[in-house]
Amino acid sequence: MQCTAVFGHGIHCENATMKNLHAYLAQALDLIGEWERRWPAFTRHPAVAVDAAALEAAWACYSERLQDNYPFFHPHYAGQMLKPPHPVAVLGYVAAMLINPSNYSDESGRATVEMESELVKDIAAMFRLPQGALGHLTTSGTIANLEGLWVSRELGRGKAIAFSEQGHFIHERLCSLLDVEGIKVSADDCGRMDVDRLDHALRSGRIGTVVLTAGTPGLGAVDPIDQVLALRERYGFRIHVDASYGGFFALLAWSNDSPINPGPFRAIAECDSIAVDPHKHGLQPLGCGCIVFRDPAVRRLYQHDAPYLSCGSDALSPGGVGLECSRAGAAAGALWLTLQCLPLEPERGLGPIVRACREAAQRWAGLIENSREFSLYVKPELDILTYFPLTDIDSCARLDACCENLQRILGQRRNPIYISLLRVRNEELQKRCRGITADSPSCRILRSVLLKPEHESAVDYLHQSLVEALRACP
Ligand SMILES: *Cc1c(COP(=O)(O)O)cnc(C)c1O
Repeated sequence: MQCTAVFGHGIHCENATMKNLHAYLAQALDLIGEWERRWPAFTRHPAVAVDAAALEAAWACYSERLQDNYPFFHPHYAGQMLKPPHPVAVLGYVAAMLINPSNYSDESGRATVEMESELVKDIAAMFRLPQGALGHLTTSGTIANLEGLWVSRELGRGKAIAFSEQGHFIHERLCSLLDVEGIKVSADDCGRMDVDRLDHALRSGRIGTVVLTAGTPGLGAVDPIDQVLALRERYGFRIHVDASYGGFFALLAWSNDSPINPGPFRAIAECDSIAVDPHKHGLQPLGCGCIVFRDPAVRRLYQHDAPYLSCGSDALSPGGVGLECSRAGAAAGALWLTLQCLPLEPERGLGPIVRACREAAQRWAGLIENSREFSLYVKPELDILTYFPLTDIDSCARLDACCENLQRILGQRRNPIYISLLRVRNEELQKRCRGITADSPSCRILRSVLLKPEHESAVDYLHQSLVEALRACP
């Protein structure tokens, strides 16, 4: 059965009759119901019973309140890094959630713990890490990065951690949490860590770990991981890759016709730890990150001997090598089921999905480059587009107001369109927009995250709508 990623309420299958999510969810309820009937019947305690009328009323209220949301599922939503899970992930999640295993150990989760170890092998293989790499799922990219940096600190006590000014804001916060000196390295005009600046900072001898980002949150830029590997030969330091956003693009980097610059993604195979978020490009519900370590020997850092957990520091259970304790086994189940239908491969499964997202960004970038109304802020490397209007605006404060207006006008149309704003330094904007005066320290430009493959056929409409909105802008 070949499933393609279509967002909607059906699970769209090639060469198979389409069964919709309604039917599959009923199947999940039956499955778990039958499984429960393998144990003796019992009566539920009356204390957990709910009043039917109260539930009806609460549901009515809940239904009403849930209307207040952005339509992340729709191609006209091109704002932040959000989209609903694939229906297959929903099915996998719901079935496992009804059991509610915790992937701490084989005492708290069994089937899903085993699935998780298979998933980690698949994710490590996607990055071409050597066999035996150690890793596990996490609740988020934040926790995955925390673990990467915690291991770095344990292995290099007293050493600093360097990260790019364009990296995710959590790196600075994690350094402070771990009580490690954080060194911010400037980025170049494309938003990638500036290797010369890094080289300069490394000369101090204080840096024990360099955090590189594959897909920065603002611009979707990919740090020159391959070039930093060469510096590692010279200075010796750990490399942690924050591939939370862009990790799945690594699928494209090994084919001959790679649409992305393959060097940095191929270099991930040589790095020490990698964080990646299946809940971003991996079609999963929120609550699914992943950390992988190239060298499985780091497991020794996780030793503990909690007397109430039979596994103790049994390093083979996921919780024995993780910072978190309880963690949804359903997240592993959902990802496992998804990857059976949409595997981590360049030509089918996740590969064509990220390829389409990047194609959407390239296509829209082309429309912007050929337009008189907008200009690109940086050329998109992945699927995040940053741009600003080109009118007779001559000051940063006015450009900021114009961008805010545009976002509002688009969001209030009869057919709303959602984009986000990105705050940039005025000196950076001045490099790209000659003649603009810097009358404030920073200003906001426009940003669109195109993380749904359906964006590919929506960008013409999105672009046209922006052009119209600009004309309507005061
Ligand atoms: C999303 C993101 C994070 C944070 O991950 P969460 O899953 O939101 O906790 C870190 N770094 C990058 C590059 C990200 O895109």
